[in-house]
Amino acid sequence: MFWGVKSHWTDFRWSGDIAYGLELHENEEDMYSLLSEQKAEVLSLGRPTAVHVPIRTNGKLFGLSDERELGLAVKCAKIGGLVVVHGDFRVSGFPDRLRTLLESTDSVICLENRPGIFHKRHKLSYPEDFKKVFDKVDHKRLGITLDIAHLWMGRDPKTTFDRFIDDFSNKIRHIHMVDSDGKEERQIGYGMVDFDHVFERLSELKRDVMVIPEVPGGQIACGAGFRYAINKLRSYPISQRPASPSSWP
Ligand SMILES: [Zn+2]
Repeated sequence: MFWGVKSHWTDFRWSGDIAYGLELHENEEDMYSLLSEQKAEVLSLGRPTAVHVPIRTNGKLFGLSDERELGLAVKCAKIGGLVVVHGDFRVSGFPDRLRTLLESTDSVICLENRPGIFHKRHKLSYPEDFKKVFDKVDHKRLGITLDIAHLWMGRDPKTTFDRFIDDFSNKIRHIHMVDSDGKEERQIGYGMVDFDHVFERLSELKRDVMVIPEVPGGQIACGAGFRYAINKLRSYPISQRPASPSSWP
């Protein structure tokens, strides 16, 4: 496991001494004429790069729910080696779009567990939801972004977390490490997450994964919130860099 930071693609120059990995938080408006500029920026930074799909597009939550959203996810995959995708598997054609996305790129595609508290709205929060997806689409580049706060915003978080590790230790490829008070995401130490337990079980993961301290506003003031979070978790075994240049994604 190694640390990464999350910000807008124009805003990573401050982050080199905090973490080696990057997660670009995409805005749809940047995905058209600015795509090649984004690629050039990422290339010049020369660091492992994940890209998060836009949260909202066309006035609704992104869920890989139509061809347009598929097109945006394909663009994200042109920038980073790993793409964090919000998926709504209830929408018809979702497995086909997921397959098309995987076939359109060499990047790793990681579906994120969404907040358990909003399960009715998101429908991709619990291990059983992911099982339904993997039963239909199984691919060596299809994985999971495990968001720790989202687990702690749902029912029986510790049990749910354990089931993710038990069932998907080979699928979890990316981590959002953040505390939660049960309703909102919080800075590390300001919520209810049992980090001793979390890190003990994460040691069972089968792959090298980037860990983003995705605390609210962490990028503000040259990453002051990320710095605080990483320092707070310094007793756990997370490296500064991937285990080897070929170990990620
Ligand atoms: Zn997300």
